[in-house]
Amino acid sequence: MQERQKPFLGNPRETIAVLNKYQFTFQKKFGQNFLIDCHVLDKIIAAAEITSEDFVVEIGPGIGTMTQYLACAAREVCAVEIDRSLIPILQDTLGGYDNVTVINEDILKVDLAALAREKNQGRPIKVVANLPYYITTPIIMGLFEKHVPVSSITVMVQKEVAMRMQTGPGSKDYGALSLAVQYYAQPYLVANVPPNCFMPRPKVGSAVIRLTLHREPPVQVKDEELMFRLIRASFNQRRKTLLNGLRGDAQLDFTKEEIEAAIDSCGFAPAVRGESLRLEDFARLSDALMRE
Ligand code: SAM
Repeated sequence: MQERQKPFLGNPRETIAVLNKYQFTFQKKFGQNFLIDCHVLDKIIAAAEITSEDFVVEIGPGIGTMTQYLACAAREVCAVEIDRSLIPILQDTLGGYDNVTVINEDILKVDLAALAREKNQGRPIKVVANLPYYITTPIIMGLFEKHVPVSSITVMVQKEVAMRMQTGPGSKDYGALSLAVQYYAQPYLVANVPPNCFMPRPKVGSAVIRLTLHREPPVQVKDEELMFRLIRASFNQRRKTLLNGLRGDAQLDFTKEEIEAAIDSCGFAPAVRGESLRLEDFARLSDALMRE
C-alpha cells in the first residue's frame, strides 16, 4: 500500500493558496462553504468512527479538505462532487491518495446502493459530508427511503436542521424530518460549529450530527410508505386538524369517514393535530387506514 500523505488542507492559508492557484470562484447555488478548521475536521472523523475496513462516501468534497482526512482513515473513499470546476483541483489535492475516486455528478442522481454493491460487496457503507445546505433533506431522505446499505451518516448541517432531527412532539421544530430520523436512525449531536470555521462564512450556525442507522425500526408498520405519506400530509398542513390535513392532501384518497374511523379506532381525539402524534401513533394510524 502506498504511504499516504498527511492532510495538508484544513487551514485558511492552504485553502486560500489552492483557491488562488485555480482562480476558483465560489458558487452560491451549490452551497459552497469550505471547512478551514482542522479541529472540526478531526472531530468529524472521530465521530464517524472510520476504520481501515470502511468504504466511505463523501458528498460534496469541495477542494478535497475532508477527503484527505477520510482517505487517511478509511480503506476507500468515493467523493461525489457536482461542480465541474472543482474536478481538476481535486485531482491535484488528492493526488497523494491512491484510495480515493471522485465522481463528477449530482449526488441525488447517483445510485448509492449500486455503488455499495460494486465497491463494498453490498455491506453497509459510511456517509460523511459537510453537506450543501440547500439539499440536506432530500439527501438524507434519499439515503433512508432508497434503503441504501448505510451504517452511519455523519454530516455537517444547519444548526436548525440538527435540532429538527432530534426533537419530538411539543416542539416547533418537530416535523416529518424528526419522524424519519427516529424511524431510521439514532441521532447524536457531535458539535456545534460557528460560521468562522468556513470559507466563505455561512449566515447560519452549523452542527455536526451522526445518525447511526437502526438494524430494526423502533416501530412495526405494515406499509412504511403510507405512514410517511400520512406524516408528510399532517405536517404540510400544520395548522389544520389531522382529519382536515389528511382529507386535503392530494397524495391521499381516503374519505372523511375512513379517516374519522381510523382516528377513532386509535383512540385519538377527533380534533387531534398531527404535530402532537408520536412515531408509534402514526404507525397505528397507518395500519388502521390500510386497505386489505
Ligand atoms: N467538503 C467540502 C468542505 O468541507 O470544505 C465542501 C463542503 S460545501 C458545504 C458543499 C459541497 O457540495 C460543495 O463542494 C458543492 O459544490 C457540493 N455540492 C453541492 N450540490 C451538490 C450535489 N447536488 N451533488 C454533489 N455535490 C454537491
